[in-house]
Amino acid sequence: MAAEIIDGKAFAAKVRERVAQQVAALKAAQGIVPGLAVVLVGEDPASQVYVRNKGVQTVEAGMASFKHKLDAATSEAEILSLVARLNADPAVHGILVQLPLPGHVDSAKVINAIDPAKDVDGFHISNVGLLGTGQKALVPCTPLGCLMMLRDYHGSLSGMEAVVVGRSNIVGKPMAQLLLGESCTVTVAHSRTRDPGEVCRRADILVAAVGRPEMIRGDWVKPGATVIDVGINRVPHPDDPNKTRLVGDCHFDSCAAVAGAITPVPGGVGPMTIACLLANTLTACCRAHGLPEPEGLTV
Ligand code: NAP
Repeated sequence: MAAEIIDGKAFAAKVRERVAQQVAALKAAQGIVPGLAVVLVGEDPASQVYVRNKGVQTVEAGMASFKHKLDAATSEAEILSLVARLNADPAVHGILVQLPLPGHVDSAKVINAIDPAKDVDGFHISNVGLLGTGQKALVPCTPLGCLMMLRDYHGSLSGMEAVVVGRSNIVGKPMAQLLLGESCTVTVAHSRTRDPGEVCRRADILVAAVGRPEMIRGDWVKPGATVIDVGINRVPHPDDPNKTRLVGDCHFDSCAAVAGAITPVPGGVGPMTIACLLANTLTACCRAHGLPEPEGLTV
């Protein structure tokens, strides 16, 4: 294996530490405690784990955590009314509605009901528009985490060829916008892209956000490229059919043999997502109080 491993777990710990230090300073100097409200509707097991982890890490960072767990049958009107209450609550600086919502709820309507200044997931159309026009926004956590790691590893990204595989609203598109903001030359590939291997081989920075286990193999990677693997896919364990294991969208061994640097799965992008959620909550809190942006936690 030639590639350097970009250790997202260690980097996320540093980001959380940076958040915790600035939260403590904010409390000491201003008496302000940033607060994050998480809304979970229904019993989706993966969502329950995410929400629990978010709550634990919020408290560990010294922030207030408000959890609202609603029954799967809760009406859209009731969810919208909770969002309105959280929008008006001065102790809440960030609001996250855990997706997916049950089928009878219009997710876009709920997300767009969140006050954009409290939209720490960065999914509100106002934040999407602000990011797209290069203005100060709240940026989706997963792409923000990818960008932080890329900046940390490379310094300037200006002029680099970046290929993002995947065009979802939560990862691919905001990732492409962020890389454009860093003056990369950006290509977005998707399921209709002709010859995706040829496209990927152009990349100095290759970001995979596809949701297809180990789809990207080493022969799609330009020698020396930096590979950011966003994918989280659960597949059967090769040695034990009763077990599963997590793999990324990149075939790790073959990609690592060619790349200059690569994020592993698990332990790469995944831990950065919650760390960036905490960073966004602190950012939202500072902006709400007219204070300077937190250091090293925004784009
Ligand atoms: P998504 O909404 O399903 O989007 C997947 C994208 O991949 C789509 O744009 C799709 O293209 C494209 N695609 C599918 N098959 C392809 C192919 N054969 N060749 C090229 N492109 C293809 O997924 P997502 O929400 O962006 O998530 C992507 C992955 O990241 C998943 O594994 C997810 O679990 C993971 N994820 C991780 C984190 C984290 O914290 N680390 C956070 C979010 C997501 P079309 O648009 O043409 O259909």
